[in-house]
Amino acid sequence: MLNPLSLLLITVLSSAMAMAVLGSLWRATIPGVGYWISANAAAIVALLAFAMQGHASRWLTFVGANELLAISLLLVVEGCVRFQKRRIRLWPAYAGLVAVFAGVAWWTFVTPDFNARVAVVSAFHAYLYALLAVLMLRGRPANRPRYSYYFLAVAALLLCAGHASRGIMYGFGIIMQTDLMQVSPSSILFLALGILAPPCLSIGVVMLAHDRLAERLEQLANVDDLTGALSRRAFLAASNTLLKASLRTRSPVTMAIIDIDSFKAVNDTYGHAAGDQVLKHFAAFVSHNLRIGDVFGRLGGEEFGVLCPATTAAEMVALMDRLRVRLASASQSALPLGLRYTFSVGVDQYRPDESLDQLSARADGALYAAKASGRNRVMAAA
Ligand code: GH3
Ligand code: MG
Ligand code: MG
Repeated sequence: MLNPLSLLLITVLSSAMAMAVLGSLWRATIPGVGYWISANAAAIVALLAFAMQGHASRWLTFVGANELLAISLLLVVEGCVRFQKRRIRLWPAYAGLVAVFAGVAWWTFVTPDFNARVAVVSAFHAYLYALLAVLMLRGRPANRPRYSYYFLAVAALLLCAGHASRGIMYGFGIIMQTDLMQVSPSSILFLALGILAPPCLSIGVVMLAHDRLAERLEQLANVDDLTGALSRRAFLAASNTLLKASLRTRSPVTMAIIDIDSFKAVNDTYGHAAGDQVLKHFAAFVSHNLRIGDVFGRLGGEEFGVLCPATTAAEMVALMDRLRVRLASASQSALPLGLRYTFSVGVDQYRPDESLDQLSARADGALYAAKASGRNRVMAAA
């Protein structure tokens, strides 16, 4: 039957389920998940305390229950702040918690007034939901799908509107009621709205956490750990996209394959860690000198690929030569462990309707020729 008590107990069950689902994400160490689990635990205790109204102390069933429910929502918001790695402190919200405590205690023990209690509690919840909506709309990373952020923002805005109207109706005496368990259409309507809140929030934050897991996997697959350049797989994928786009725009695209010279000797003489430092330095040096839209990846070992849109082979040769000269003239202190190193480059321009493999085979051939003719040079394919 749809009465306040059964609605409260159903919400307890849905919060327990949400805790179980969020618990599965615990070991992924995603910031915020601990807060979201605690939020559900606080909500469960709060709802059970509400359900005990008339059978236990009003400190527990009125003041404690309302305060815990407010804390539960604040924990959801705090979890989102951690999740987004924002550096904001929610001082007004903590002040609001104190106001809720004082208001509920005053209107329970000093001048008992159910409507006033509802008004103060609803105002606080409406404020937190508005805050949550703003966090979701403002804090969405540009490179991630927007679905989970918008889902939470819309849910928070609807819940904010629900709480705001509840606060106004009770605060201005449009609805009069004397206790929570009273069965009336308005109390059931608002409780039914409240019952949707925990599952909506939990589904939303679980979607956020799953997107973070997906982001981590994509990062692992697409970015080379050591150098931060694109992985071979991601480089090839981005290159294919760029080549297709160039067919539409009919603008030139050129590939360079770069290989560090005598790198084995660096490893053999200074150790593998020094070799790693050189690789990192080189990748940072090249990326720093490329334009937005250029594709740069580590093809393997000490070999890198660059694909530049709107660039001819002659322009690429000039660009790579500038890099070569710039690296040679860098001050020793700017080099990894003061080590000087050079690189060789093979370059060729894309010909319409050939494959990426064909283009890289020619650039590779040019690189081979650069090595054969003495290293530390840039050569275009014949
Ligand atoms: P060349 O001028 O002809 O290119 O000679 P090279 O010594 O640079 O080329 P070679 O292919 O003989 O050696 C490449 C070396 O790169 C061998 C391999 O141990 C080393 N290497 C590959 N990946 C890494 C890495 O991630 N870190 C380090 N430190 N070394 C690596
Ligand atoms: Mg080499
Ligand atoms: Mg090599």
